[in-house]
This record gives sequence, structure tokens and C-alpha cells, in this order.
Amino acid sequence: MFLTPAKTFVWGFVMSVLPIIINGEERLAADGATFESIDPATGEVAAVIAAGGAADVDAAVAASRAALPGWKATPASERGRILNRLSALITANAERLAELESIDTGKPMTQARADIAVSARYCEYYGGAADKLMGNTIPVSDDIFAYTVHEPLGVTGHIVPWNYPLQLACRSVAPALAAGNAPVLKPAEETSMTAIELGKLALEAGVPAGVLNVVPGIGEIAGAALTAHRGIDSVSFTGSPEVGKLVMHAAADRLSPVVLELGGKSPHLVLPGADLDAAAPIILKAIVQNAGQTCSAGSRVIVHESLEADLLDRLQVLFAKVSIGRGLDDPDLGPLVTTAQQERVLGYIEAGKAAGAQVLVGGGVPAGLDGGAFVEPTLFARVDPGASIANDEIFGPVLSVMTCSSVENAVEIANATRFGLVAAIWTQDIDTAMWVAPQLEVGQVFINTYGAGGGVELPFGGRKESGFGREKGWEGLLAFTTTKTVALKITPPSA
Ligand code: NAD
Repeated sequence: MFLTPAKTFVWGFVMSVLPIIINGEERLAADGATFESIDPATGEVAAVIAAGGAADVDAAVAASRAALPGWKATPASERGRILNRLSALITANAERLAELESIDTGKPMTQARADIAVSARYCEYYGGAADKLMGNTIPVSDDIFAYTVHEPLGVTGHIVPWNYPLQLACRSVAPALAAGNAPVLKPAEETSMTAIELGKLALEAGVPAGVLNVVPGIGEIAGAALTAHRGIDSVSFTGSPEVGKLVMHAAADRLSPVVLELGGKSPHLVLPGADLDAAAPIILKAIVQNAGQTCSAGSRVIVHESLEADLLDRLQVLFAKVSIGRGLDDPDLGPLVTTAQQERVLGYIEAGKAAGAQVLVGGGVPAGLDGGAFVEPTLFARVDPGASIANDEIFGPVLSVMTCSSVENAVEIANATRFGLVAAIWTQDIDTAMWVAPQLEVGQVFINTYGAGGGVELPFGGRKESGFGREKGWEGLLAFTTTKTVALKITPPSA
């Protein structure tokens, strides 16, 4: 980080500093600090961004606090209309936003476009939900009228990671706004560009100044300041289990609620009766999409020993066909988000080889793509369920295939990691599928599919070290509310 005025000099070019957005104004950091965002396909500087610090977080929380009463009092139908306008603006700017996302994360344009479409859909879904957030009346007795209302939590903190920047920002900010909260959003330092755009588009859509404040910055500085702030009423955190624990410790000191959407090591259980022609392309997509940097990436396959050879034949052909290149050129597989992430993934690949797993495809850095953070799509077979590549979240395009001897054995292996986010069951045998689904210690189960097209409507979240609380769907809206119960004594006229 270094101090700068509003413009900075990078590699011979003058670049504007992308701003913090507080109270509807675009600002530099109070101490003038900035950081660089790097294009992972080339290693070049893509943007220079204001690095929010504790003073900026203070100002953002104060702005949200001041704007909260007005936003809370805005009719729910009007909040919904504003969110729908935001959805339309995201759609109108989709190509520009997708390009920014592709440059920032490295993801292929087709995937970046899909991310932007899902971002717009979150705003539309929660815009539509805003005026349907009804409470209950509760039959207590004839002389008591009891009802519940879902009130907003207040000033909500939102910390998102770098893998799906705009999508994950909208996934938590849209329901928070719909329910009448005033959010402060801290994007990941690797990928802040579209979150800053979201702050600007929200103002254009009619979100009043101060209701949504966006503070880009370094996790240990801006993120830590936000999670420890006494002025916020909840934190919604999406990121690694390690930082999730820090967030929860900070929230414990304030006794405020947290939603933690953390990592995963999600398995495909390929069981007798599976349609392998249908399963194989989806298994490929679930690990190659976003270069495997997806919390719900299907990074393990547990295949019945009778199907192993047939499945591996299919996967080998598909893995070998994956095209690799710069995200803007729209290959199947772009670079990882940073060279640090590339080194981490390559370290796991070496550990897998050392543990005796068989590399069927990939296993290194692709040739001819110098300067970028690329890793080949890598297919490991004969993986020991105890190996690190079978248990740790690698967050790269690396698939570990292991075998099971029975359906029960598949469930045992599936549940044996510290994570519990998503699982897929592949079989046409409905009895097997419906027996296995409840045995899996995860938050989402897919049968003969994976992901369900973005799944905006489907409650999503983890068990074990994948976190707790739910985002997406109706539960994602309730997560930004607190239930108030009101009981009124009715005194009859004759009394
Ligand atoms: P990360 O935990 O390093 O960072 C996530 C966010 O936390 C970033 O905005 C970062 O700036 C911030 N941060 C870092 N240190 C902080 C601190 N001390 N206090 C407060 N905030 C801090 O995670 P990452 O590497 O960016 O993302 C990858 C992880 O996110 C993976 O484990 C992945 O599975 C998980 N993830 C989960 C979901 C889900 O929905 N379950 C979705 C996407 C990613």
C-alpha cells in the first residue's frame, strides 16, 4: 500500500483510484492509502483502489446508522421497487460488469456473464420478497391478541470473498436491503471493482445515500475493523473457515448474530444405477467452473468400484479437452485468482502425487501462458480417503476420485471430512437416492444434477466447518431479520 492523491501513476499510466462509497459520496481513504488489484491472467495492475481503514469503517457505520430509520420506514413495496430497479441496472450494465469481473478474477466471460445474471436475479428475487415478509398471528386465548413481525437487524456488516465477487455481494446485500437494514459492504481486496460499481448503481436505482456503504480494503485492516465495530448489529461473512472463526470471536464480544458461509469439500457419490453419460460432464463442470475456486465445487468423487473404470474413461476424455486461457478470451478454464493461490494448488498436487495418487490428466502448469496464475485441470485417481487432496479444500481445478465398496461405505467416506456444504448423488435407483440423502451431513443435496442453475431460490449453507446460517431463498431473507412478538390484552366492554 502507498499514499496517493486521487490519481496514481502505475507503469507509466495515470490510473484513477477506485473509491470508497460512504453516504452517497465517492471518497479516498481517510489516510490516503491505496492498494493494487492484479489481473491474474497477465500479472499486470488492473486497478488502484482506495484502501479503507478503521476511520473509513467508522464513517461507513455512522452513515448506515444515520440512514437506517428512513430506510426502515420506507414502505416495503418501495424498497422492493428500488431493488428491482437495481436488478435492471445490473442487467443493463451486464457486459461491462462481466468484463470487470473477468479481469479481476480471471474467470471466463461465459461464467462472468452468468455471475452478473445471477447478481441481477438476487436483487429481483429479494425485491419481489420485500413486501411479502409477513408475520403470524398466534392463538393464545380469547383475551390476548398475539402477533409476530420480522424487523430488520439494523446496520449489517457484509464481508465477501474473491471467487464470485458481485454475485456474493448481491446474495447478502439484496436480502438485507429488502428487509430494511442498512448494510456496510467490504469486498475482497483481490476483487473490489464490481462491488464499487454495485454501490454506484444502488444510488442510481434510488437506494438513499448512506443506506448502502461500500468500503474496499485489506481483510486484516478494513475487514477486522468492520467485524469488531460496536456499531454493527450483525455480520454476514463468506470466506475461509480460518477467518470465519475470527469473525465469530469478534461477534461474541458484541453478542451479535453471524451468518458464516465457509469452505467445502463436496463429494459426488456415483452409485450403482448411475447414468455415467449424464454424470461425467456435470462432474467436470463442477470442478472446472471458476477454476475450482467455488465453495461448493464438487472436488471429490466417491465411485462404486464396479463403475470406476467406466467413469474414469469418460472423465479422462473430458478433462483432456478443457481449453485454457485468459478469461476475456472465454476458454473453459481461466487462471486462478492470484499467483499465491496457484502456488497453494500446485503444492496440493505435489502432495497428492507423493501420497501415491495416480495423475490421469494434468498435474502442473500449462505451457505457453507465462505471467498468469494458471494450473492444468487435474484428474487424480486411486486417492486414499485419508490423503490431504481428499480432505482439504484445495480451491483449484483438481478432482480426487476414490472408490467405495457399498452405498454405506460411500456415505461413510462422504461424511469423513471436516466440511459439510454440498453433496451429489448419482443413481437412477430412487430408493438408494432417497436413503442416502438424509444420511449426508451437508446443507444441500443434489440428485442426478449439481447446482440447479445458480439456485437463488434454494436455501444454501453448511454444517460442521462449512459454517451455519443460511443465505439464498426465503431463509436468506429471514437471516436479516429479528422476530418481534407482540401480545395485546383485550378487555371486554362489560369489564
Ligand atoms: P478469506 O477468508 O481469506 O477472505 C474472505 C473475506 O474476508 C475477504 O473480504 C477478506 O478481505 C476478509 N478478511 C480477511 N481477513 C480478515 C479478518 N481478519 N477479519 C475480517 N475480514 C477478513 O477467504 P477467501 O480466500 O477470499 O475465499 C475463499 C474461501 O471462501 C474458501 O474457503 C471458500 O470455500 C469460501 N467461500 C464460501 C462460500 C459459501 O457460500 N459457503 C462462497 C464462496 C467462498
